[in-house]
Amino acid sequence: MVDIQTRLAALGFFLGKEGADGFFGPHTESAIRAFQQRRLLFADGIVEDNTWTELVEAGYEPGDRLLYLRVPYMRGDDVLYLQRRLDELGFDCGPVDGIFSPLLEVAVTEFQRNAGLTVDGIVGETTLDRLRRLQKAGDPLPSVNIPDRMDGYVGLDSFSGLKVGIDAAHGGRERGYQAANGTTEKDANLALAKQLAVLLAEAGAEVNLVRETDTSMPLYERMEAANAWEPHIHICLHHAYASSPKARGAASYYFANSGYMSKAGKRLAGYIVDAISTELGRVDLHTHGRNYACLREIKPLAVMVEPGFLSCPEEADELADPKVVVREAEAIMHGIEAYLARL
Ligand SMILES: [Zn+2]
Repeated sequence: MVDIQTRLAALGFFLGKEGADGFFGPHTESAIRAFQQRRLLFADGIVEDNTWTELVEAGYEPGDRLLYLRVPYMRGDDVLYLQRRLDELGFDCGPVDGIFSPLLEVAVTEFQRNAGLTVDGIVGETTLDRLRRLQKAGDPLPSVNIPDRMDGYVGLDSFSGLKVGIDAAHGGRERGYQAANGTTEKDANLALAKQLAVLLAEAGAEVNLVRETDTSMPLYERMEAANAWEPHIHICLHHAYASSPKARGAASYYFANSGYMSKAGKRLAGYIVDAISTELGRVDLHTHGRNYACLREIKPLAVMVEPGFLSCPEEADELADPKVVVREAEAIMHGIEAYLARL
């Protein structure tokens, strides 16, 4: 607890006059929520794996350490700064996601070669200095909404040979929200995932279900497994809930952080939520850019889908109906189809 509070305070979040006292009070909770909001995370005031990872990464400033390619990849806001600068200068380093990937190493060596520096792919003071000086020279390029280049390029226009990863979120002890009719989110997610897998396989796609049974998996292990299969497209399935039983409708999410968004992700998420709202008559809650691990960690293209609210009694009954689940899976497929057709 003190560690979380110390990190929040170092990032400039107000913890009240009691400061980092080790107690989880209202000031700490609102500081966590504010941090989550700023990082485009789910703002529930709870420090789970995703928020903890972001807290650690937010603590790294450019120049704190040498940056280079290693496994596991280095990650943090210092990497994010490096990616932003290189991207603004026209060096393609893939998604600006704060992860030092092989693509970033290529961009770093290209920059070093161009700048007449030692070409070693290691970012220390010399390379950072040069990046900073180019910034001071007055760069007209904006630092927000840098479009991705290769991100999201699938290279296929039909389901045949398309690799689609599907993650039914939660599972095991981690059941997610439980609706008044008894449906748990983990079960609703899995039912939809299995149905979607059947339809996609029939259409000729290769499908990988991250879980096929009621098992729990740590978040980042789960992302690693999903990524290792090297999908073209990854779909993470959740169901929404809210404190008001009136909240209803379908929404979808794509990767974004404070200075970057996946344009391909936004397009795919848009086609999917359009199809669900049109075909099932759900309220269209549109697409939203988020920095969730399930969107950030899985390359090249990941979206998260929430077809409805388990906290809305009428919608929850629909979401638990196997016949409706088939139609939801069909709609998601139609959304992917529309994306592929318009690449
Ligand atoms: Zn969920």
